[in-house]
Amino acid sequence: MAKQLKCADVDAKMRGCSFVAEGRDEAEVMKKAADHAKSAHGMAVIPPDVERKVRAAIRDTGGPQGVPGRDVKLGTSKLG
Ligand SMILES: [Zn+2]
Repeated sequence: MAKQLKCADVDAKMRGCSFVAEGRDEAEVMKKAADHAKSAHGMAVIPPDVERKVRAAIRDTGGPQGVPGRDVKLGTSKLG
């Protein structure tokens, strides 16, 4: 599922930032976020504690209704 990160969600310091990173998966979003942090916020590297905040702020871009975290489908696994 596609992922989305709002820079403003990462840290109070970023609250004025309107950048949104989108990607097919978390890795792609992280890459874009790292590029943005470098160019817009002067972070040559993302410190581990910031990376943790970034990962926590990443959301699913849910389907047409765009409701994050509401499409949990448990009990449908086909193992074996
Ligand atoms: Zn930003």
